[in-house]
Amino acid sequence: MITVLRIGHRPERDKRITTHVALVSRAFGADKIIVDKVDDKLKRTIDNVSKKFGGNFELEFGNYSEAIRKFKGTKVHLTMYGVPIEEKIDEIKKIENIMVIVGSEKVPRPIYEMADYNIAVKNQPHSEVSALSIFLDRLGREKGLKGELKIIPQEKGKKVLRIPGREECLALLDKYGADDRLKRHSVMCSKVALTTGKGCDSDPRLLEAGALLHDIGRTVTHSIFHGVEGYKILKREDMDETIARFCSTHVGAGLLKNTAKKLKLPDQDYIPRTIEEKIVCNSDTLLKGDKVVTIEEIAENYKKKGLASEVPRLKRLNSYLEKKCNFRIEDLMKLNEQ
Ligand code: SAM
Repeated sequence: MITVLRIGHRPERDKRITTHVALVSRAFGADKIIVDKVDDKLKRTIDNVSKKFGGNFELEFGNYSEAIRKFKGTKVHLTMYGVPIEEKIDEIKKIENIMVIVGSEKVPRPIYEMADYNIAVKNQPHSEVSALSIFLDRLGREKGLKGELKIIPQEKGKKVLRIPGREECLALLDKYGADDRLKRHSVMCSKVALTTGKGCDSDPRLLEAGALLHDIGRTVTHSIFHGVEGYKILKREDMDETIARFCSTHVGAGLLKNTAKKLKLPDQDYIPRTIEEKIVCNSDTLLKGDKVVTIEEIAENYKKKGLASEVPRLKRLNSYLEKKCNFRIEDLMKLNEQ
């Protein structure tokens, strides 16, 4: 747990700098910031960033000496007069519960005594924003923050992916006339996907949206074309390609270009590529309606339908995810009882 204590905040003068101290804290892995003067606008700004970009970062207001006194862990004060970070960072890295204290103008003398460590990021005057960023970066506690907006790194330009939330996805299913059976299947698929995804590095928001919407094309047709139809619906609804692809890449555990051609689908492959696409595809494969069944049972069904050629690929995807996400079918089957 990392708490940042920002002392000496003056709402009129330090608006931007305290906002930046809070943003750095959140982005570089802190769980909470305590600011020693109430500033509602600052709270609104930070809560809004967390809502959009994810995480459970907390902002609290409180008296700094009381916050230090009450704190149970190790207190690290960042000051240009302290011991160079390089000498102490390995020792500090081993500590679980840390309070990082940064000042604004002159820092009161007692802080130097109350702190367990006084640490300098270069023994030169600069700023609380730079000192805090470098310290937190070297501490290396950054978490994968996942929210409604996800920045897709670009060599040039900007790309931001908006991931629809659960309510928005359910409303979209309703808008296209999804029946109860389809909704039950989609909700169960989201539970299976989220449970699978817990064991590997995947985005739960993306898994939930992808699983809830993967079959929206079934409101148009139940044929193999439902994936393509779903893709078209989501594009029409202005959803990003990343979201729309869940529709096209879940059919038949992912179709190769040749198979797609034989099935007269538009000329491309339909192979799930991202970890989220693979998980949603596999979660759908493991479902018979809204019940999880074994991959063997699914394989038998495929054979009965004359689709034996597809079985090795769907089994391969399932074993790949069993290892990658460390899931057991028994755990997924427990979802049947809920
Ligand atoms: N003269 C002030 C003092 O008494 O420390 C420094 C004011 S400085 C603008 C604001 C804050 O930036 C400091 O309280 C400290 O937390 C941080 N800071 C500035 N330079 C630093 C450095 N070289 N190493 C660590 N922290 C620094």
